[in-house]
Amino acid sequence: MTAWHGRNITVAGLGVSGISAARALAGLGASVTVVDGGDSDTHRQRATGLRAEGISVRLSDAATLPDGTDLVVTSPGWKPESPLFAAAAEAGVDVVGDVEIAWQLRGPDAAPWLAITGTNGKTTTTQMLASILTAAGKRTAAVGNIGTPIIDVVLAEEPYDVLAVELSSYQLHWAPSLRAHSAAVLNLAPDHLDWHGSMAAYAADKGRIYEGNSVACVYNVADRATEDLVREADVEEGCRAIGFTLGPPGPSQLGVVDGILVDRAFVTNRQKNAQELAEVSDITPAAPHNIANALAAAALARAYGVEPKAVREGLRAFRPDAHRIEHVADVADVAYIDDSKATNTHAAQASLAAYESIVWIAGGLAKGATFDDLVIGAAKHLRGVVLIGAERALIAEALARHAPQVPVVDLDRTDTGAMLAAVHEAAGLAKPGDTVLMAPACASMDMFANYNKRGEAFADAVRELAAAGR
Ligand code: ADP
Repeated sequence: MTAWHGRNITVAGLGVSGISAARALAGLGASVTVVDGGDSDTHRQRATGLRAEGISVRLSDAATLPDGTDLVVTSPGWKPESPLFAAAAEAGVDVVGDVEIAWQLRGPDAAPWLAITGTNGKTTTTQMLASILTAAGKRTAAVGNIGTPIIDVVLAEEPYDVLAVELSSYQLHWAPSLRAHSAAVLNLAPDHLDWHGSMAAYAADKGRIYEGNSVACVYNVADRATEDLVREADVEEGCRAIGFTLGPPGPSQLGVVDGILVDRAFVTNRQKNAQELAEVSDITPAAPHNIANALAAAALARAYGVEPKAVREGLRAFRPDAHRIEHVADVADVAYIDDSKATNTHAAQASLAAYESIVWIAGGLAKGATFDDLVIGAAKHLRGVVLIGAERALIAEALARHAPQVPVVDLDRTDTGAMLAAVHEAAGLAKPGDTVLMAPACASMDMFANYNKRGEAFADAVRELAAAGR
């Protein structure tokens, strides 16, 4: 009998992580009910499958707490103010996330977790880390906000040596007992504030990743807020603060000297010595923010004891997922880059800083953001701008205020075909040697199902342009 036997657990959300949690907990003898507000064909199909396994499913009601519930397990996207959680609080019932459950289900010799959070770069850095750990001969997986549900990985028959765990601020919020071997906060910029309520609450949730770390807390030297979070964390005796920087590293830091990634943290006599790990040219793409990601991944790998050689091999083997600064094609000596994943201003700022002369395609849903700082920073790189999407006026106004000399084509369209028009307009503005960069700084759902679809629409449009021989 396990500690879960006979417990009445309500799982919030019939998505991938909810289904994984429901199955795992039912398998341990808990009595599980999955609740979801939807009632589509997909929901019903999933419900039928789970019911056949003895799991209760309630559709069309995401708000009422089932009678007798003694624990609620939430899926990542649920807001803290969801009525179900208010009902749980009123009934004195705890709410936790799938990551918390995974943490609690680990066996006694479980793989340590190397954890990563931040506003941007989480997926990339987590995958880089997994690539480095694989190059070091470890059985590992990139999990958390990506890939296989974390509960399934923790319960896998063939155990892992070490896990590279991407954690969103939501998942950290609901994982109170998580204690990573080492963790990194890559950067902190306002995002998802509608969910967390305030920047302070968002930062506090991100900072939870350092709680109880045993070996290293990795922070971004260029982002003071991340270092502050390390200082505030309650860690195990002997756990070290390790910085990463795009400049030459000080002691207990990783950084860059003459195009070489060097380690002055995990070496003997770090006052005097530095260890070469890799070259900037080993990283794809070698944009500044991505070098920062590589340094953070390297720091976590080194904290776990990985040799320098495997850091280099792992970084060389790594290729980013689609729609992250992806080179689609060169047409008429102009490079077309798809950074559809730049769904907020902080991400767009990173890619706008990576090119000299840019025709920028931007716009979509702003999620409450303002664009003044972004435009001020990017102004000198802008050859021109093409705006699409529902809230493009916010960007147009910022451009009028801070970069009035930059030509702007304001496409008054939110239909899917607008991307083709945008690419044609951008081609008209670009000069040989320029980059057309689709880094919208906005979410995509006003025009597309998701950022993948937006990126695909861009790539299709570029291919059409190439075929037309422009
Ligand atoms: P996340 O998982 O945090 O959303 P991704 O690795 O998927 O991060 O990258 C998301 C977006 O952020 C991409 O557009 C990418 O170009 C940009 N980005 C990646 N790393 C950084 C970073 N360190 N700082 C700023 N922007 C970044």
